[in-house]
Amino acid sequence: MIRYSLRCSHDHMFEDWFSNSADYDAKAEAGELSCPVCGDKSVRKGIMAPSVAKAAAAAPAPACMSGMMPGGGCGGCSFAAE
Ligand SMILES: [Zn+2]
Repeated sequence: MIRYSLRCSHDHMFEDWFSNSADYDAKAEAGELSCPVCGDKSVRKGIMAPSVAKAAAAAPAPACMSGMMPGGGCGGCSFAAE
């Protein structure tokens, strides 16, 4: 299982689990991925992008946002989970 940090076109960050990268591609293409905040289906992977990784390395660890996310997800712990 792989956990991806995802980002919708409105810059909402959230996470979802996939069996592998092909599973993500299949769900993304089928339109099964949507933002839990606004329902936007224009969802992209966030954590795999080189620019995101570079920013994460330069920035201090993000604060845990557990409890602030609808559905109980922890939107701030994507990097700490590695
Ligand atoms: Zn959104």
